[in-house]
Amino acid sequence: MLENKNYKFWFCTGSQDLYGDECLRKVAEHSAKMVDGLNASGKLPFEVVLKPTLISQASIRKTFNDANADEECAGVITWMHTFSPAKMWILGLKENRKPLLHLHTQFNEEIPYDTIDMDFMNENQSAHGDREYGHIVSRMGIERKIVVGHWANPEVQEKIGSWMRTAIGVIESSHIRVCRLGDNMNNVAVTEGDKVEAQIKFGWEIDHYNINDAVEYVDAVSKGDVDALVEEYYSKYKIILDGRDEAEFRRHVAVQAQQEIGLEKFLKDGDYHAVVTHFGMLGGMKQLPGLAIQRLMEKGYGFGGEGDWKTAAMVRLMKIMAAGVPNAKGTSFMEDYTYNLVAGDTGILQAHMLEVCPTVADGDISIRVNPLSMGNREDPARLIFTSKTGPAVATSLIDLGNRFRLIVNAVDCKKNAKPMPNLPVGTCYWEPQPNLAVGAEAWILAGGAHHTAFSYDLTVDQMVDWAAAMGIEAVVIDKDTKIRDFKNELRWNAIAYR
Ligand code: MN
Repeated sequence: MLENKNYKFWFCTGSQDLYGDECLRKVAEHSAKMVDGLNASGKLPFEVVLKPTLISQASIRKTFNDANADEECAGVITWMHTFSPAKMWILGLKENRKPLLHLHTQFNEEIPYDTIDMDFMNENQSAHGDREYGHIVSRMGIERKIVVGHWANPEVQEKIGSWMRTAIGVIESSHIRVCRLGDNMNNVAVTEGDKVEAQIKFGWEIDHYNINDAVEYVDAVSKGDVDALVEEYYSKYKIILDGRDEAEFRRHVAVQAQQEIGLEKFLKDGDYHAVVTHFGMLGGMKQLPGLAIQRLMEKGYGFGGEGDWKTAAMVRLMKIMAAGVPNAKGTSFMEDYTYNLVAGDTGILQAHMLEVCPTVADGDISIRVNPLSMGNREDPARLIFTSKTGPAVATSLIDLGNRFRLIVNAVDCKKNAKPMPNLPVGTCYWEPQPNLAVGAEAWILAGGAHHTAFSYDLTVDQMVDWAAAMGIEAVVIDKDTKIRDFKNELRWNAIAYR
């Protein structure tokens, strides 16, 4: 479910034929060494593929269109080794549809003080050629990422690797299909949105089914399959009976196992990558899917509660962007639930009714069966845990009527001061940057939702770059946020994104 294609990134070096064959031979040799070095660095999540040096409008145009047609190509990395007159690039850039990185680097790290002469200067002038190229990309208003520094520097390589994940988000966004098992919750504003515009902007297909279409799949699951999955749950998670009868507890857990298997088959048959439910629209479901949805999220499905398809698609998007991050800490649907306003330990307790992804869990995961206190179904089984500490990113995609805005908040996750033995949900606890007071004020000013798509494994920059590539507004709340400036930014953005 989280397997990416065998994506590759094309490395395209720009030059021209003014310098003669000997120089162009060296250009190609340098580019090959750089590509080998990047691939051997261990810092890039995907392979870089060297393309022949580009020295004419025809070859540039053909290369970009070959990239467009290649399903495995997830982006194009461009670098001007020498001067490459930028009018040659106009047609190719105009036709390019793949994410673009401008790697502003040069082959040599240090000026060769003892030997440098005019020939060397002419043959190693990306400081010069990359400005000509950058000019035309800016003049054409094309979105691209620029990374500056020596190609063998680990920090530069990490920036390239980080951008690759943004590019995967751009490429994969157009394949996201969301299955709505229930509509948006009545009267709720922030989870609403324009589904047609979302497909135009992001490529998302957002469909709707009657929940009983999925109930048919759940009811069709065999008892043997349910029993086997319940056994897996019992071996994997701690069982907290809370004084309930063991057999009755197990029967409640079995309902979730049956839902997990049935829902997964339903989503697979429809080729869906994200799903929404609504506790008030459960049709023939015996319980609100809790443990079942938690396990599906763990497998890579996006999820949004109460019909929130925007957040469901964002959770899926962020899971696919973060797929394969070494030592990943997790990505989940979250909801701002309740505050701790004690001086010195301010923060927001994150949870949902049930549906928090166990990838974010720290330590033991338990199963409990508790009343939902909302809706009219039997007590659902759910996974209980607390979450990891450290920096993370929380995002909210909202529809402002005339445009989408992505709100991106850098948050610091921490441990709660005490355990919460009576709280039967998976939780996370964080303080928004720069602090709760400014972070929450900015979030509310920006119109951010109570639902978020959250990840420890992605950065503010990756999400902002993704929004830029999608052509939508993004606002950042982080350590540099000041309310007066933030209000002005929102005011100016209202004009810029009109
Ligand atoms: Mn909710």
